[in-house]
Amino acid sequence: MGSGVSVQDYDYIVIGAGSAGCVVANRLSADPKTRVLLLEAGGRDRNPWIHIPVGYFKTMHNPSTDWCYATQPEPGLDGRSLDWPRGKVLGGSSAINGLLYVRGQGRDYDHWRQLGNAGWSYADVLPYFKRSEDQERGADAWHGTGGPLSVSDMRVRRDVCDAFIAGAAEIGIPRNDDINGARQEGAGYYQLTARNGLRCSAATAYLRPVRRRSNLVVETRAHVHGLRFDGRRAVGVRYALAERPQEASARAEVVLCAGAVGSPQLLQLSGVGPPELLREHAIRIVHALPGVGENLQDHLQIRAVYACRTPTLNDEVNHPLRKMRMGIEYLLRRSGPMSMGASQVYVFARTRPELETPDIQFHFQPLSADRPGHGLHRYSAFTASVTQLRPESRGTIRIRSADPREHPSIRPNYLATPLDRDSAVAGLEVARAIAGTRAMAPYVAEELLPGPEARTREALLAAARSIAQTIYHPVGTCRMGPDPGAVVDERLRVHGIGGLRVVDASIMPSITSGNTNAPAIMIGEKASDLIREDARR
Ligand SMILES: Cc1cc2nc3c(=O)[nH]c(=O)nc-3n(C[C@H](O)[C@H](O)[C@H](O)COP(=O)(O)OP(=O)(O)OC[C@H]3O[C@@H](n4cnc5c(N)ncnc54)[C@H](O)[C@@H]3O)c2cc1C
Repeated sequence: MGSGVSVQDYDYIVIGAGSAGCVVANRLSADPKTRVLLLEAGGRDRNPWIHIPVGYFKTMHNPSTDWCYATQPEPGLDGRSLDWPRGKVLGGSSAINGLLYVRGQGRDYDHWRQLGNAGWSYADVLPYFKRSEDQERGADAWHGTGGPLSVSDMRVRRDVCDAFIAGAAEIGIPRNDDINGARQEGAGYYQLTARNGLRCSAATAYLRPVRRRSNLVVETRAHVHGLRFDGRRAVGVRYALAERPQEASARAEVVLCAGAVGSPQLLQLSGVGPPELLREHAIRIVHALPGVGENLQDHLQIRAVYACRTPTLNDEVNHPLRKMRMGIEYLLRRSGPMSMGASQVYVFARTRPELETPDIQFHFQPLSADRPGHGLHRYSAFTASVTQLRPESRGTIRIRSADPREHPSIRPNYLATPLDRDSAVAGLEVARAIAGTRAMAPYVAEELLPGPEARTREALLAAARSIAQTIYHPVGTCRMGPDPGAVVDERLRVHGIGGLRVVDASIMPSITSGNTNAPAIMIGEKASDLIREDARR
């Protein structure tokens, strides 16, 4: 990957080297005649903690790898403002995420199709999941091998994790070793986007193997400040390279992959967005598109914490000798706690029997902390974090000024609907049911959160409001659809603007039922084919 090529030399400019952007840059530059510029605001992925799975504890909340956003005070969460990490480095959020490989439910994508987005049913997108994947367990009807993204089994098993899976079975949630296969419902150990015990970010998977392509230029510390238009056609970008102003032109297309916060922010800054918002900040309107920054959806995690009768990772991490042993185990065998993703065990369950598919997901961890990414407690404890899979609450991302360096206003609007509040309560009740099983009896000493005093529905909801945090899955802010509120069409072209697509998690019409990295990578894979097809026409 060279640099310093003339600004006129590009066919495509890809903005943002995150989960989707790395895929697009790789696939478009596979044709040696196509010149691609990939611009990333963050730096190179040299920090070793990016590559050690457990390193997300060091990279999130760290301004050298994280945008360190925060939400506005949330009315549904007692007015608390939440930290909102987003990756700012090659690989984007896939470089600082929890490594969990989850696709969601087939019906999530069938629903996208049903909303009028031809080509996005599960049958349509499954080949792209498979094309991206190098599944350690081998290929089958649901999985692929030989793709850039390594997916592997967890290298650690722990008794309390096994007990949680057995506890789930006791209350009727079956064991399921492949939630990305025929059926999502069930309990088991997560798979990770990891290769030989090291993180496989989108940059590792898609950029590193092609770093010698002379037609792919990757600029880091390149913060895009705005899009350039010729009438209603995007023709290039303005950006600051290590603070110096630059411009680049795209003969074919600009592909916006800046993520669910960055993409709507950049569109708004460039004059594509809700007209009143643009007028408020004296931004010239290129195209009034009211949906830009609307429809924000996220998964909220509510962390039930239990004091444990046996030692947990809290004890190992807080004990200097055991901590050293963990380091040696990782150095020698790339296994042990340092090879762990953000969670070990999943449970996908239905809170009401009449539901067709799971509506909640657990992230079970043999550790506890006041907040994710903060120091572990000094007592033995574990966490059963529960998340509603398809929340109804919708929020917004809106610029606060015309200055591209100022973080936008983030209002997720959590727990805004009765269903979301009921699901929060029901999720905590399922956590209690599993903790109360025979399998968990040797481990559970005491419920610390929400705490035994929270007995009524009202008390559980109050506890949820005070302990909930994001689980880092913002999507939907440049929604795909055929209607006037949508931002992109089913080929991910921005409505009303030529030469411009959005390709990242922001295009999801509705959030997928699980973690969002694999879906963002799938979106990058499918979009690359759409772009190449349209170029051939
Ligand atoms: C802490 C954390 C833990 C997570 N855990 C998991 C998990 O375990 N499993 C899972 O599936 N998902 C997880 N996720 C979510 C998942 O990683 C994201 O949904 C996914 O990476 C989003 O991909 P994207 O391409 O939409 O955006 P991103 O990967 O965020 O990429 C956007 C890129 O654009 C760049 N950018 C933004 N603005 C500009 C600009 N103006 N100029 C230039 N560059 C710009 C950013 O720096 C970034 O590199 C987690 C996320 C976080 C933050």
